[in-house]
Amino acid sequence: MIQIKQVNKSYGSVNVLQNINLEIPESNVYALIGPSGAGKSTLIRSMNALETIQAGEIIVDGTSVHDRRTNINKLRSDIGFVFQAFNLYPHLTAVENVAIAPVQVKKVPKDEATEKAKKLLASLGLGEKYDSFPGQLSGGQQQRVAIARALAMDPKVMLFDEPTSALDPEMIKEVLDAIRGLASSGMTMVVVTHEMGFAREICDQIVFMAEGKIVEVAPPEQFFTQPSSDRAKDFLSKVL
Ligand code: ATP
Ligand code: MG
Repeated sequence: MIQIKQVNKSYGSVNVLQNINLEIPESNVYALIGPSGAGKSTLIRSMNALETIQAGEIIVDGTSVHDRRTNINKLRSDIGFVFQAFNLYPHLTAVENVAIAPVQVKKVPKDEATEKAKKLLASLGLGEKYDSFPGQLSGGQQQRVAIARALAMDPKVMLFDEPTSALDPEMIKEVLDAIRGLASSGMTMVVVTHEMGFAREICDQIVFMAEGKIVEVAPPEQFFTQPSSDRAKDFLSKVL
């Protein structure tokens, strides 16, 4: 579903992505973990053309992301992206936040988009909050609205960059539960996370990055019990 081939990117003399190669099969969930500055955000943002790359290629569902001929709007409607900060429209209600892109980008009739938005919000435990504005919602609720908003476009892939990092501890679980539900529905996902227990539980593979490189790719049990690289051992000794 996602193919990353020989990707390189630098800022000045700093190589933030060095020869990145990775294949993510359909319906798999991959975690990107590693120390601060490893290049995790740069890599996941590249998958959605939020970052340019200087060499290599990223293909998502058959579309070459950085090809000049690629329709970026179409690409972004196929790839849901959830950020650490929820970025909801403050002047729109929860339902309106979820329905707006299908109406504006996909020309879905407003009634239909509204019905679907309500279903998505209800499925994420927000059935009582349709008409609330972001400022009236908790962080965890806002992040679930952001997930519903991404899902409203019927994406083929969902990307998450530290979706729980801005949340108070008691709200982390509700957002992780929403992502867990998506995983069991077969959604292809890449999640940058510092939630090691969550990565271990739901991910098919752990991708460990450090200093712009992929150091290790392994199934969770193997990665967390017998990491093969010293860099990963060192990282795990600090975070577990
Ligand atoms: P964190 O866990 O802190 O979010 P990360 O793994 O997501 O870290 P990135 O944000 O991808 O790391 O950054 C990778 C490297 O690229 C870092 O050294 C960072 O300083 C550098 N970098 C990121 N964006 C820019 C930019 N716009 N200009 C220059 N350097 C940048
Ligand atoms: Mg980051």
